[in-house]
Amino acid sequence: MYQLIIFGPPGVGKGTQAELISKNLNLEHISTGAILRKAFDEGSELGIKAKEIMDKGNLVPDDIMNGIVKETLKKINGNGFILDGFPRTLEQAKALSDVFNELNFSSIKVIFLNAEQDEIIKRLMKRGRSDDTTETIANRLKVYLDATSPVKDFYGKLGLVNEVDGTGDVESINKEIIKVIE
Ligand code: AMP
Repeated sequence: MYQLIIFGPPGVGKGTQAELISKNLNLEHISTGAILRKAFDEGSELGIKAKEIMDKGNLVPDDIMNGIVKETLKKINGNGFILDGFPRTLEQAKALSDVFNELNFSSIKVIFLNAEQDEIIKRLMKRGRSDDTTETIANRLKVYLDATSPVKDFYGKLGLVNEVDGTGDVESINKEIIKVIE
């Protein structure tokens, strides 16, 4: 069973690559951002609370995110999953390790997709999501550096990180990722 995490700065193309890989390998694509956006579209209380936080480029509290991911992972069967946008803090990474232990998931691979900051900003500006305004982008990058980038060291120490260059065309990046996980 594939047990994948795709990780990297906002706008690096995690969502696009996670979508492709999940289609290629028939995996469940677990995008925490997409789960929150769906909750908002459905008008749930969680979604409405989350939207305010997302539009500022801040992070939704760990306990909420940990609960969502745990419930989703418990239901996984078949070929496996790719986590996209989670974990985003050390607390989330630690909570995820507990869930993996509980569920006996022991073949985790982390894909660290990376790109230069200039390239990332260019891509985010082009996307036009409601949290892709200049101000929010600047804050999301700051939040990434402060809260999320330590997650890379967490997995690095466990020897799980596979770095892939996120610049170039979608297909070549996809091939690189497939090479790393096969
Ligand atoms: P994304 O679609 O991954 O870019 O996520 C969009 C926004 O959703 C983020 O900027 C956060 O506000 C929120 N979000 C998504 N995943 C998480 C997470 N794991 N922890 C906290 N907030 C999250």
